[in-house]
Amino acid sequence: MLHNLNNPKMQLSSRKSDLKEAILKKFISQDRISQAADVVLSLFFPRRCPVCQDIVWPTGERICPGCRDKIAFIREPVCKKCGKEISNWETEYCYDCARHPRSFYEGISLMRYDRVGQATMQGFKYHGRQEYGAYYIEEILSKYGEKIRSWHADAVIPVPAHKSRERKRGYNQAEILARELSKRTGIPELKNVLLRTKKTTAQKNLGGRERFYNLQQAMTVKNRPEWAKTVILIDDIYTTGSTAEACTRVLLSSGVKRVYLITVCIGSNR
Ligand SMILES: [Zn+2]
Ligand SMILES: [Zn+2]
Repeated sequence: MLHNLNNPKMQLSSRKSDLKEAILKKFISQDRISQAADVVLSLFFPRRCPVCQDIVWPTGERICPGCRDKIAFIREPVCKKCGKEISNWETEYCYDCARHPRSFYEGISLMRYDRVGQATMQGFKYHGRQEYGAYYIEEILSKYGEKIRSWHADAVIPVPAHKSRERKRGYNQAEILARELSKRTGIPELKNVLLRTKKTTAQKNLGGRERFYNLQQAMTVKNRPEWAKTVILIDDIYTTGSTAEACTRVLLSSGVKRVYLITVCIGSNR
């Protein structure tokens, strides 16, 4: 909280998004915002470009036309497990997936976690640029829409952030992604079902196995509805895969039958 108060930039952006939310609630009764309302809103709350982070021109767009070319969108061949780019068509899995058990069924990711990926994630996670979420989901759906529909998922579940970290930031970025995906696909979003109960702070000093054990201990599932059997787990970044694995294991042990994974950015083995 203190951090929040001391950071005027963040304070302003979270106030702005509260205001936007209030306006949306007051004037737009349905879930779906009409395109006209969207354009009007973007006049008052100009959208930032997820790449250059300046105000997007033309108004109403989600990214500058030139900036889109700077994103390294994931291209085939990819790992059949996590969706990471791999260097040859003969291999099925990436280095990590070949060596570590993966309990999720299949994962897809939008872009490489390179310099551009890191910068856009910084804005999305730490600088209040929640509008990037809608852009990422739009791109994910245009690239993988058909595949996602073929999963026949019952629910979308965001990877949880620890509550104190979420309070500091004002939001959990994975929840924004889940909300956007749910809004556009109609797959219900399950909030507060997968929870992070413990803070996992000193992770850096731990070895892989301990780190993973710690992470798994920190996750719990509460009040999962019976009908949520096939779920999509969604997160911003995929690096070692340990967070996704920990979440998947607790979901499976709570009675979920199959977990798919969607991430915005993914590391590379290349
Ligand atoms: Zn731009
Ligand atoms: Zn992989």
